Amino acid sequence: LRIWGNYFKMKRLSIKQFSITLLIIFILYQMISFGYFYKRVLYSINSILFENLKTDSVILKENIEKNIRFADISNIAAFLGTYSATHPLIDKIYLLNESKKPIFSTDRDISNFSLNKRCLNLRKLSADKVLDIDCFYMKVKVYKKLTPYFYYAYIIIDKKYQNSLFKTHLLNYIVIFIISNIFFGIFLIFVINKFIITPLEQLRQYAYYSNKPLQSFLINEFESIRYSLKNTFHRLKSEQYKLYELSTKDPLTKLLNRNSLIKEVDRIILESNRLKQNFTFLFMDIDDFKLINDTYGHDFGDKVLISISKKLKNSVRKSDIVARFGGDEFVIILLGASKPFQIKKIIEKIQKNMKIPIKKDEASLTPTFSIGIAFYPKDGKDFHELLKNADIAMYKAKNSGKNIYHFFSLKDENKLLEKIKIEQLIKKALKENNFKLYYQPQVDIKTNKIVGCEALIRLIDPIEGLIPPDKFIPVAEETNQIIQIGRWVFQESIRQIKEWEKSRLRGIKVSVNISALELNDEILFQYIKNSMKVIDAKNLCIELTESVFIDYTENNIEKINLGISLALDDFGTGYSSLSYVKNLPFNYLKIDKSFIDDILKDPQDKIFIKVIIDMAKTMKLKTIAEGVETKEQRDILKEFGCDIYQGYLSSKPLPAKDFENFFLEWNKES
Ligand code: C2E
Ligand code: CA
Ligand code: CA
Repeated sequence: LRIWGNYFKMKRLSIKQFSITLLIIFILYQMISFGYFYKRVLYSINSILFENLKTDSVILKENIEKNIRFADISNIAAFLGTYSATHPLIDKIYLLNESKKPIFSTDRDISNFSLNKRCLNLRKLSADKVLDIDCFYMKVKVYKKLTPYFYYAYIIIDKKYQNSLFKTHLLNYIVIFIISNIFFGIFLIFVINKFIITPLEQLRQYAYYSNKPLQSFLINEFESIRYSLKNTFHRLKSEQYKLYELSTKDPLTKLLNRNSLIKEVDRIILESNRLKQNFTFLFMDIDDFKLINDTYGHDFGDKVLISISKKLKNSVRKSDIVARFGGDEFVIILLGASKPFQIKKIIEKIQKNMKIPIKKDEASLTPTFSIGIAFYPKDGKDFHELLKNADIAMYKAKNSGKNIYHFFSLKDENKLLEKIKIEQLIKKALKENNFKLYYQPQVDIKTNKIVGCEALIRLIDPIEGLIPPDKFIPVAEETNQIIQIGRWVFQESIRQIKEWEKSRLRGIKVSVNISALELNDEILFQYIKNSMKVIDAKNLCIELTESVFIDYTENNIEKINLGISLALDDFGTGYSSLSYVKNLPFNYLKIDKSFIDDILKDPQDKIFIKVIIDMAKTMKLKTIAEGVETKEQRDILKEFGCDIYQGYLSSKPLPAKDFENFFLEWNKES
């Protein structure tokens, strides 16, 4: 059994092979049972023959006994003749005398009688022996004058008849058996094929290709397999679809997501190359989206994004691509449109659609976009280049205000690269301590003594050399690095003041510049406040520009009132309103270099300076003139009553040590 089991395991049968094997086993079984059945039939035929022979022989015996006369057998000759003739199984009958010599034969020929045939006494005859014998005999008793004589009747069986009898029986059975089995086999194969093999093959194909739907099956098990396959495929399809949606679409806005945008653009680039067509890449960022989120909550923020997505889709052609690139960033690919005036029109349509307000309770919002535009292939040969340059352009748009679009230009890119480089240098400088403070003397015009100095930061990179503050301060303000820088500047200048307070420079006032962003740095102001315990507050002056007051109405400056001086820097360049000055306790007003530059050439500027100095005087402010380069400039300022001057006339900003020497030398001389 195990061998067979292994055989099947190894071989692995098809259902066809399996059912043929089964059929062969069935036919073998049929044959065996047929053999058995045939034997049974044979036996019953024999029994009938035997019974017939037996009863007939009794009649025969009686007849012979009654009619035979001694030495005269003619009486029964006729009888025996008809008897043998009517019995198909009896070939002939011999009558033998007591000494077993034949005296009569039904065919009147006694010469061919012999006793060596298989002959059996009737009394010993039984059904199972009927087939094995050639003849049987019986002893017949005849009385002659009371003396009994014995005759023998030998009855020869007609073997030919007997055999043919069985042969036809056998033939009939075999024919019926074979034909019925053939029919049955064909029927079975047909049924198995139709109801098992074909459905199985169909199910196999269905499981593999799953495309064409299957008709229902007759057989329950197959039907349930088909049904569950169908359900599985259905579920698979919908899951597949969901997965596809999930992987290509942004779940919130249902726009293409970043990944599928990249794929789409790659595809469009190939197509554009083939058709020699251009397209336009718009990178869009919602203005102040963070503010919307913070004031109205994220749920409303989501609602805004959905509404905006719909408006964007409605503003462009169906064939154009709208994708959500990130939080509040969108990308639109305009196919076929590649002329600035066409783009302008489309953007105007977008802006018009955006004007339809999104309502939240009482408030109604009309979000705007900053848009950067890059053209394929002019501004980028692949997705990343297009994105980068459109982003640069968007950045530029953002810096120019809100609701503005900007076409990419190489100049923007260079500026951005420069910015990135400076950002890295600042980062490095903060880590490696590449910043230094230089000090520029401030000279009292009347006494010609140095009374103070302005601390001016320098970035001295070991590789790039000196980077002027005009270059890196605006970058630091954008990147928020100004906070770290400001803390360093104050730490360093306070340390310097402390040092000078103990030296021959004692009493010198150090002015430190502060940017608008630094005003909100609590840590910085806490530090300044604490430092007033270590240095004399009157030796520190903080310089602020007017722009500070435009953006911030309330700030830390108002909170610290510890005797630190305040100077209003770059006066005259901004909005120049003295009303700002009234609100803060300024001590100094610094006249911007641009007015000093033209003081000799431009009478207008000359008047302006005179007016400023006079007004400052009435407000009890001291004036400091910046960028004084010539004696002539200084003399006019002296004439106007300006208090202090600062500029190359006395000195450029100097490193601390040089400044100390310069100071001692200068004040000794004058
Ligand atoms: P600012 O506050 O107006 O500084 C005066 C600028 O004029 C300095 O430029 C100084 O070197 C320059 N200057 C002075 N006298 C003359 C002159 O006679 N002729 C010419 N041509 N220039 C003169 P600097 O040092 O390059 O600083 C530029 C700006 O960077 C400063 O303008 C200030 O706004 C900012 N800054 C400098 N240091 C710091 C700092 O530590 N913190 C902050 N927040 N800003 C700083
Ligand atoms: Ca200044
Ligand atoms: Ca200034």
